[in-house]
Amino acid sequence: MFSRILIANRGEIALRIIRAAKSLGIESVCVYSTADAHGPWLQQADQAICIGDAPSADSYLRIDRIISAAEITNSEAIHPGYGFLAENAHFAEVCKDSGFAFIGPSSEAMALLGDKVSCKNLARKTGTPVFPGTDDAIEDTEEAVEVAQSIGYPVIVKAAAGGGGRGMRIARDETQLREGIESARQEAAAAFGDGRVYIEKFLEQARHFEVQVIGDSHGNAVHLFERDCTSQRRHQKLIEEAPAPGVDRKKRDQVVESAAALIRRANYSGAATVEFLMDHDQNFFMLEVNTRVQVEHPVTEMITGIDVVAEQIRVASGEPLSVKQSDISVNGHAIECRINAEDPDRGFMPQAGLIEDWRPPGGPGVRLDSHATVGYRIPPNYDSMIGKLIVHGPDRATAIARMRCALDEFTVGPIRTTIPLHRRLMDYQPFIDARFDIHYVERWLEEPAAQA
Ligand code: ADP
Repeated sequence: MFSRILIANRGEIALRIIRAAKSLGIESVCVYSTADAHGPWLQQADQAICIGDAPSADSYLRIDRIISAAEITNSEAIHPGYGFLAENAHFAEVCKDSGFAFIGPSSEAMALLGDKVSCKNLARKTGTPVFPGTDDAIEDTEEAVEVAQSIGYPVIVKAAAGGGGRGMRIARDETQLREGIESARQEAAAAFGDGRVYIEKFLEQARHFEVQVIGDSHGNAVHLFERDCTSQRRHQKLIEEAPAPGVDRKKRDQVVESAAALIRRANYSGAATVEFLMDHDQNFFMLEVNTRVQVEHPVTEMITGIDVVAEQIRVASGEPLSVKQSDISVNGHAIECRINAEDPDRGFMPQAGLIEDWRPPGGPGVRLDSHATVGYRIPPNYDSMIGKLIVHGPDRATAIARMRCALDEFTVGPIRTTIPLHRRLMDYQPFIDARFDIHYVERWLEEPAAQA
């Protein structure tokens, strides 16, 4: 096992990794930008090193400085967290070539699963359900038109190298498809330096269902069941829960097992998430694989009792997974609300500034993963998420009731946050009944009740 690791990230995920490292008896080193010089999480680290100015391009994305910091501090491994360099195969390779273990998959496995076309092809071999569409990147537009006709419109044109919703076009007829292929190609080439696009069936109404998986370097791979992330706004997740409510057990088991088979086939070591859309009839279609720890990993931890981040560190050090599939079961229900410093009444405008009031909730089954405290000044440079409120209960109704209490207790000021919005959503009947699809929050936000 490592004795010291470097954390190439900030905020709540840096703190989460510090905590996992401490629990394993490992020291942690944080790198930070000048904007984060007073970041409360740095006090929990054993060492902290400034690597540059506030813009991420001058600090958290500077591979050369992160590697230097790891050398200076005699760190043995580097944890990228999520965002920033977490899905950058080049960074994973540089870490390895510089003699540091990368706490994540090999650059090869990351590239294989990170490319949506190669990932989809591998998924077909392991019985992981995928959308009908073109098998490979489109070379001939006429062939794509034929495929679209055979699967039926609407279809979606997507970039093989896509991310962050870029390079996607919905096409409802042949004219839109021809235009969509061209414009998606151009956008993907400009954004990712890779203009390959493919098409798949477009689902108008769906739920977001994803599977937490984790593999080691000894050929083992397990799934930690699923999460439902249907409560979104503009493709940004707001609320995540585990397990997914109302899903047929047999269908669920097939999908979660196929997700584990996929990463086993890719010789994948580390944590990953296989994302799916689920239609009305509970048919599943893989969207993509995220080759890192996700923001919403705590709901999985609450229902399985497994520390996903500690497991990541363990497997990166060469140890086998500490759990077998037969040891893993679902206990109760967990819900996470992302607490963002945003003003929902003003178009979710990000709120920077001083936190003067911070009274976190407590009680049975309540967990708060946050780096914020009274006196913390939120810098304007990064993501607006200042914490995650997670509750666990024996069933979904109890978890919702606990979340209502926790949100009522949670007081933050004077900056505005998404806490009141979450509180109102907890009383919204479609959420309570889990009768929802990925656009229901957006529709609800148009209603007067959402603004109350
Ligand atoms: P990115 O990597 O850019 O985030 P994803 O493949 O994860 O791209 O898709 C982003 C979002 O686009 C999904 O969460 C979903 O809302 C929508 N989407 C993507 N593919 C489809 C599809 N075939 N049908 C319906 N919606 C889709």
